[in-house]
Amino acid sequence: MIKIPALKNSPLSNFKRKSLIAAIAMTSAFSSVAEIIPAEQVAKDITYLAADDLKGRASFSPEIDRAANYIAKRFADIGLQPISTEKVATHNTRFLQKFTVSQIQPQALTVSINHAEISQENLAIASTMRSVNWQETGAQVHVISKDDDMRDTLRALNQKGGQHLVIINSAHTKTFQAYKNYFNRGITKLSLEHRGAIVMVLSDISDVNAYNVKANAKITEQTLTNVVGILPATSTENAKEVVLYSAHYDHLGVTEDGKQIYNGADDDASGTTAIINLAQYYAKQGNNKRSLMFSAFTAEEIGGFGSKYFSQQLNPDHVVAMINIEMIGKPSKFGAGTVWMTGMERSNLGALLNEKLSAQNTEIYQDPYPEQGLFYRSDNATLARLGVPAHSFSSTQLDKDQHYHQTSDDIKSLDLSSMHKVIESLAVATQSLVDGTVTPTRIDKAKVRAQGKIY
Ligand SMILES: [Zn+2]
Repeated sequence: MIKIPALKNSPLSNFKRKSLIAAIAMTSAFSSVAEIIPAEQVAKDITYLAADDLKGRASFSPEIDRAANYIAKRFADIGLQPISTEKVATHNTRFLQKFTVSQIQPQALTVSINHAEISQENLAIASTMRSVNWQETGAQVHVISKDDDMRDTLRALNQKGGQHLVIINSAHTKTFQAYKNYFNRGITKLSLEHRGAIVMVLSDISDVNAYNVKANAKITEQTLTNVVGILPATSTENAKEVVLYSAHYDHLGVTEDGKQIYNGADDDASGTTAIINLAQYYAKQGNNKRSLMFSAFTAEEIGGFGSKYFSQQLNPDHVVAMINIEMIGKPSKFGAGTVWMTGMERSNLGALLNEKLSAQNTEIYQDPYPEQGLFYRSDNATLARLGVPAHSFSSTQLDKDQHYHQTSDDIKSLDLSSMHKVIESLAVATQSLVDGTVTPTRIDKAKVRAQGKIY
């Protein structure tokens, strides 16, 4: 699950969101499922993925490739079909969906306003352009005064795109510094087709009569990898319809000094383990009237690039539902084995699951953390923007989880029995999607906030 607070009280957190979260209570009614989802295999998968050996599965690291190979091998052994039809050296590599992203790292930036040069500490840039050269024209100029909302203004410019010179009153120094730190790390983009830049100047100038801005950036390309397997539909009638099970397998890597490892056992080795074992469960059942797709996404923690790329490789209209599993390693506030669902009010998927579960004497709970905006903080949001009933399922007590994005998020901190129950309950709850007997309503794309164009 992505952490917004690279910018404390970041632009995203100001949104009023009402993401309803549902939790599914477990009963012993699922004992027959437990035989098909072996607890030992669940333990084995998560132990591998969250081991120190994989060094926190950071995007672009060699260790994340080892995690990808492990997942690919599991998918192959289960008997899934690979995403790629290309002839490649080994069967397993055909499960790897590789793509490149561009990293834009700011280099030099010089700015003068009204013919006076601005000092470096008062400058910052977010840009998708190799170079910027504005001399009296080229940019739209904005002044954020003492009483303006700096975050709102920047968010609006980011959503609009284009080239902007923003003069920020020194009353906003702290917020400016947070953005500057964030932008200095560079920007990663899946595509550079939108060329835009926001240059921020911390200054009390209120009238800009003249400006001169020069900036350049270093752009490098790097490879990322999703792991995708398909369980083809058993019926030709529903073959085009896809039920997507997903989780992200990347995490944060190691601490800056390299001494400690962010194992990401809960976030999100737990979800990755779930989709592998759900794949195994449904493959053994062999009665899925719809096609099932299992995707382990990369690069969620650095901006959701895995799901973005994935969403461009298929027709989202064919995706009947997306069950995105995020952080199910510990009991939710509703008890062991329970799981909740983000954005429940946006489609009737939760209601359909409830229908299925009512016979099992199970229950769906309300969102415990609407203020956290969790609907937007995982890969489901990308597919939801395309209208897919795409939701995240989780059990984290995010308001007080001491391990979230800490090096202590390791296997020792998990309750594997609770996690196993969650996987079983998801297998039961989603059976009617798999059978093709229910079809959830689409999410209203117009009501899903767009992503920024520049950063
Ligand atoms: Zn996370």
